[in-house]
Amino acid sequence: MLNILMRSFRDLIFPPLCLHCSSLIEHDSSYLCSECMEKLQLIDHTERCPLCFSSDYLPGAKHCSICKPNELYLHHIAAAFDYVGPAASIIRKLKYGNQPYLAKGAGAFLVAQFVQLEWPIPDFIVPIPISTTHWLERGYNQSQLLAESFSLLLDRPLLNVLHRKSGDYSQAGMNRQQRNALVTSSFYLKKELTFYDKTILLIDDVMTTGSTLQRCAEVLREGCPKDIFALTCCRAIK
Ligand SMILES: [Zn+2]
Ligand SMILES: [Zn+2]
Repeated sequence: MLNILMRSFRDLIFPPLCLHCSSLIEHDSSYLCSECMEKLQLIDHTERCPLCFSSDYLPGAKHCSICKPNELYLHHIAAAFDYVGPAASIIRKLKYGNQPYLAKGAGAFLVAQFVQLEWPIPDFIVPIPISTTHWLERGYNQSQLLAESFSLLLDRPLLNVLHRKSGDYSQAGMNRQQRNALVTSSFYLKKELTFYDKTILLIDDVMTTGSTLQRCAEVLREGCPKDIFALTCCRAIK
């Protein structure tokens, strides 16, 4: 009874609003209204390039016209959603809105997409690190929180082995060449490790061109893993 009363008072002062469209939510067990919840449909991975997850791809082909497999360190990239609508709102609030608890639900969508992909169960889950500068601003790494949620649901260990140098500023507004140049030397392994015969799954919040994921895979290849996969919550669209 006390709980119901407390909730009623709270709802009167802070009515539960959809974090995407701000309409009133009738059942506050969700952060989205029912209409926005319905818009959260996982991307059909068979319609995307398996190397970069671009939609500019003919189903059945080995990859899109941009990808050059020989130049890539990572040959399996996927995302749960495109970076639009309610999915983008969740990530923006998680990343810039100081709402770290959103990672729990977003991690469940990552698991749902992982199941659709039928990728092998990873030996380790590795989050993409953020720079110390960003960590100090935000107080947490959103990719780490997503990876923690994913790791808990899939019951696979999380390995925090990558470090990102400070001074690695936002890539927004940069072209592909500028991004590659920026991230080339931004990552390194925290210590010399071997992942011989292990399968690694990288987790990040948003993929733009995929260059960050490729650079992280390049670093992890030093440990001789069997294979590396990468799954992100969203994929930026042009
Ligand atoms: Zn809504
Ligand atoms: Zn591609």
